[in-house]
Parts: sequence; C-alpha cells; structure tokens
Amino acid sequence: MRIGVAKEIKKHEYRVGLTPANAKSYIRAGHEVSIEAGAGANAGFPDQAYLDCGAAIESDTQALFNNSDMIIKVKEPQACEYDLFHEDQILYTYLHLAADEAQTRALMERKIIAVAYETIEEADRHLPCLTPMSEIAGRLSVQEGAKYLEKPYGGRGVLLGGVPGVPRGKVAILGGGIVGSNAAKMAIGLGADVTVLDISAKRLAYLDDIFETRITTLYSNEENIELVLKESDLVIGGVLIPGAKAPHLVRKEHLKLMKPGAVIVDVAVDQGGCVETTHPTTHDDPIFEVEGIVHYCVANMPGAVALTSTLALTSATLPYGLALANQGAEEAVKSSAAISKGLNIYKGACTYAPVAKALGIDY
Ligand code: NAD
Repeated sequence: MRIGVAKEIKKHEYRVGLTPANAKSYIRAGHEVSIEAGAGANAGFPDQAYLDCGAAIESDTQALFNNSDMIIKVKEPQACEYDLFHEDQILYTYLHLAADEAQTRALMERKIIAVAYETIEEADRHLPCLTPMSEIAGRLSVQEGAKYLEKPYGGRGVLLGGVPGVPRGKVAILGGGIVGSNAAKMAIGLGADVTVLDISAKRLAYLDDIFETRITTLYSNEENIELVLKESDLVIGGVLIPGAKAPHLVRKEHLKLMKPGAVIVDVAVDQGGCVETTHPTTHDDPIFEVEGIVHYCVANMPGAVALTSTLALTSATLPYGLALANQGAEEAVKSSAAISKGLNIYKGACTYAPVAKALGIDY
C-alpha cells in the first residue's frame, strides 16, 4: 500500500503521525511511505531522518494525497483539507466527529474510509490510542500548575514541594482515572501533599493500594470538594463520564472558598470542563483569572510536548495502522474488533453508532 503522512496544519499542533522508525516498520512490511516535507520537523524528526529510513519526501500536498492509499495524520482534517481526499482512500487519525457535523458530512461526501484513533477499543474497553494522551495530560497538568503558582503569573507564590521548615503545597485531583493517577504520580514526585477524589470506590481502593500512604483518597461529593477547595494551592480536573459532558463539580460560587492565587488546571476542558468557569484556551494564551483564581484550560495539552506525545501516540497507533495497510481496510475491520470500533466513516456512510446518534445521521 502507498502510505502518505500529511503535515499538521492545525494551530499549535506539532505532532506527526509517523516517526522515522514507524516509517521503517511500514517499509519493512512491503509498503511505500511518503512524508509531506517538514511534517516531522516540529516533533524533532527532520526530513533527512525519514529519507535515511527509506521513505520519500513530498513537498506537494495535493500530490501526496493523490498518490496515497492511506493518509496518516494526528488531528482531524481542517476544512481546507477536505477536498484533498479521494474516494476509497483510508484516513487514519484522531477525528472526534460526534461534536463536528460539518466534518462528518464532508468526509462522508468524499466517500473515504475513516478510522478514528479515539474510538479504537479493545475487548476490555481499553482505548489504546487515547490512553497515552491522558497519561501525558495528567503528568503535564502538575508541571503547568506548578508554573502558574509562581507569583509572576498571578499565582500564590507557592513551591509545591516546600522546603525544610516550610509546608508543602496542597494538590487536589478531581477524578482518579488515567489523568488523575498520572497527575498524582507527578505531584507526589514534587513532594506535594496530594488528595484524590473520585466517585468510584473501586478506583479509590486501587489508588490507595498503589500510592499507599503518599496520597489521601476522598469520595467525590459536595462536602469533600468544598473541603479540598478551601485548602488547595492547585486543583486538577480529570473527571470523565464516558459519552457525556463533564459535570461542573466546581461552580463559580466555589471559587470564593479558594485561596487567592490558587490555580485550577481543568484537563477535562475538552469535555466541557469540570469547573463552571472553564473555557478552552490555547498554548499561546493558556491562562485566565476568575475571582482571583488562575485557570489553565488548554484543550490539547499533549501538543506542548510534541516529541514525547508523538513517540507515545505513534507507538500506540502503529499496530492498528500496520493491520490496515497489510490487510486492507475491509479485512482489517473483519479480523479485528478493535479496528472495527475505530471505523467511523465507510464510503459515504457513518459507521460509528455514537457519532451517528449524536449528529442525527442514519446509521
Ligand atoms: P478516565 O475515564 O480514565 O477517568 C475519569 C475518572 O473520573 C474516573 O475514575 C471516574 O470514576 C471519575 N469520575 C467520574 N465522575 C466523577 C465525579 N463526579 N467526581 C470525581 N470523579 C469522577 O478518563 P481520563 O482518561 O483520565 O480523562 C479525563 C479527562 O481528561 C477527559 O475529559 C479527557 O477527555 C480529558 N483529557 C484532556 C486532555 C487535554 O489536552 N486537555 C488530554 C487528555 C485527556
């Protein structure tokens, strides 16, 4: 199969869909790989690194799309990219179609075969291509929170680890899933005093087992949330209710309970946020202040650490991408339940029930 790797054009998207080592895996399997010129540069992979692995470099975007059976990307195609696709072409990327009717209809019209990273699902309900990004966002949330606690950014001027004779900073993490547990790991590492809140007793027991006495676990309810808000220097939002908007666990009136200059990092912003005063921000303007509380709400946090994110993402996507290339889309979907869950668009039809339902499209 001829594989084309497109350069990302979405603002502040620095990742790339294949590393040179991944390109080599496709080439070893008998495929041809073309990389759009400069596609890997922002993630630390110059064109020469791909050439050294046997891939070709294509500087004409339309030619790359015309001559590829499968396009590999990171982010959903932007509107100006829709016309580049041709019938029967495979698109393998993040799509997030449920909230994007225009894109869904555009891809249906192009009669392509679109496999979305985020809906590939293993039998144990694990989402292998989504998990690494939650791990990264969780770890990054503490790094960002620690930075914005610094006085010049409007923060309280608190060092999370404290110093001998001075108390440690307090971190509260709402939601103890993948984001939450990775945030806890980083906050513990910095020496902070960490509390994790979740509604799942099973999850709290698991976190208590793995972190032992290094964290406090609390049931997530109004009373406990108010308690931690009063005490915390940094609050991290990592709540997810699958298929639904995040609940507003922290409402505007709660901000008055918090210490002036405390920081909220609402990682769940991509699902609407678990803080009422959240709105999405970008890497070039990441924070805003409400009631004296610094809010960091970047919707694509992993983009900031493009090299780590690219390595983590492409390691997860490679096996499914190779299956699509080796077997062709139809056979890969038949032989892998995980890939069949990833199939969102098939030659004019929407083939992923939650997207069809969300957009009122026939399924
Ligand atoms: P997850 O499913 O692993 O964890 C979510 C946790 O929230 C679960 O443990 C669940 O029990 C808990 N929860 C649900 N309702 C709760 C409540 N009322 N109070 C406390 N806990 C509650 O999900 P995840 O992978 O950790 O993702 C968390 C969020 O982070 C999602 O919204 C995801 O989309 C988002 N995310 C954002 C970025 C970004 O760049 N901003 C990147 C990755 C993930």
